[in-house]
Amino acid sequence: MNRKLIRLSKSSISNKEKDNVLKVLDKEYLGMGKEVEKFEKELSNYFERDAICVVNGTSALQQAIQSIGIKKGDEILVQSLTFVASFQAISASGAKPISCDIKPNSLTIDIEDAKKRLTERTKAIMPVHFAGTPGDLNEIYKFAEEYNLRVIEDAAHAFGSKYKSRNIGSIGDICCFSFDGIKNITCGEGGCIVTSDNVVLEKIKDSRLLGIKKESENKYVGKRNWFYDVSEQGYRHHMSDIFASIGLSQLKRLDQFKKKRYDLVCYYVKLLRQESVKLIANIDHEETMAHIFPIILEEGVDRIKLKEKLFKRGIQTGFHYFPNHKLTFYRDNKAKELKITEKIYHRLITLPLHYDLSLNDIEYIVNCLKIDINLLKGK
Ligand SMILES: *Cc1c(COP(=O)(O)O)cnc(C)c1O
Repeated sequence: MNRKLIRLSKSSISNKEKDNVLKVLDKEYLGMGKEVEKFEKELSNYFERDAICVVNGTSALQQAIQSIGIKKGDEILVQSLTFVASFQAISASGAKPISCDIKPNSLTIDIEDAKKRLTERTKAIMPVHFAGTPGDLNEIYKFAEEYNLRVIEDAAHAFGSKYKSRNIGSIGDICCFSFDGIKNITCGEGGCIVTSDNVVLEKIKDSRLLGIKKESENKYVGKRNWFYDVSEQGYRHHMSDIFASIGLSQLKRLDQFKKKRYDLVCYYVKLLRQESVKLIANIDHEETMAHIFPIILEEGVDRIKLKEKLFKRGIQTGFHYFPNHKLTFYRDNKAKELKITEKIYHRLITLPLHYDLSLNDIEYIVNCLKIDINLLKGK
């Protein structure tokens, strides 16, 4: 069959992004400058509070953790079923990620389970907005308040999503986004931190530029300061004008992206409703800008074989994610059993979702899925 491969996820780049990048290249100032400042302003308008851009989403999480004074030995509650970036950001800051279980309906952190894992070293919770849905944010914040925990939202999947009609990022303690190539909007690479906490904002403005005090203000006006002070560990984790210029045009296309993802997801849901697979039931499609489209297979359907079969039909699929508590670096013998995670992770498969898919593609994907599941069940 000569069908073009249907990719699991991809960026969507228009001439506007290309023009923007060329303009920056023509200026021959490629580092952090006016474009980053402009992108931060537009993001701040969108979130109705300050946003700071950094080199990627992992760094956004890591610098957010460092900015609230988390120290070696401190613990942060996080669901095991997330991209390893959430865990690496925690351990990079010296803290210990404590693997928690998920709710079966939304695949977001189970607060009842998290409660059992609290110790006197627990300093924060990192809810992951899996596939774009924030889960029950009210419950999460109530829990955090009760136990005096900071909340660092891993909203890498959730740019464009809402919670009770408000944009994710516009509410809550500290919210971190990713602008990686396949996220809801992209810069190529990039990330941002959104918060109302001025201490966090000021610290990250320095830490992203090697800890050099007030360096961000100099960069915005293209100046360089030769006499400076540093009082904390910093990183070369700022964003460049090239990446910000891509983000600026992507942000303008947000509504267009959102509508398309919504239409595709609704069509998937419609076509899959009668099937034996389980959908992530708790996603409110009106509020969620879906980043990925995972489904839960019936017990006994071999997802690795299914993935191979679909690939032969020109459909790329994915597994989001391999639980982090099973990785050598994060294995924890004391971790109590993660019942739902263990029960679900090997039944998850993610179907293609990105801007350039058509409703016809979705029909083709669902038809192939039905045929291959039946073949695997020997029907
Ligand atoms: C993509 C992602 C990140 C990290 O973002 P990068 O920009 O790739 O560093 C963090 N958490 C989750 C859940 C992600 O999917």
